[in-house]
Amino acid sequence: MSDCLFCKIIAKEVPAKLEYEDDELIAIRDINPQAPLHVLIIPKEHIKRVADLTEGDTDIVGKMVLLAKKIAVQQGYAKDGFRTVFNSGPNAGQAVMHIHLHLLAGRRFAWPPG
Ligand code: 5GP
Ligand code: ZN
Repeated sequence: MSDCLFCKIIAKEVPAKLEYEDDELIAIRDINPQAPLHVLIIPKEHIKRVADLTEGDTDIVGKMVLLAKKIAVQQGYAKDGFRTVFNSGPNAGQAVMHIHLHLLAGRRFAWPPG
C-alpha cells in the first residue's frame, strides 16, 4: 500500500535498522524502543490488523512468532525471558495499520499491561 509506513520500509523507501529479512518477513529495530531489545516482526504482505487475519494467514503468523523466538534466543534472552505483543485496533493503541509483532526484552515487564 502506497501510504503505509511499513510497506515503505519493506520497499526500502524509508530507512530502518534491519535485523532480518527473507521473502515473506522483515524484522526491524523499533524507532522508539520500549526495552533494550525492541524489534518489530513484519510480514511483507499488507495485512492491517490481527482482527483481519484469516485461516489463510496461519502460516505467516506462525513464521512471525518463530522469528521472534529465534531473534530472542540468538540475542541471549531465552533464559531471562521476553515479551511478544500484537496490538490490534484503537483500544490496544495500534498506531501503524500494517500487522506487526513486537518483540521486547532486556528488562522486567509489568502485568497486567497498561
Ligand atoms: P503499534 O503501536 O502500531 O503496535 O506499534 C507501532 C510501532 O512502530 C511503535 O512501537 C513505533 O515506535 C514504531 N514506529 C513508528 N514509526 C516508525 C518508523 O518510522 N521506524 C521504525 N523502525 N519504527 C517505527
Ligand atoms: Zn503496509
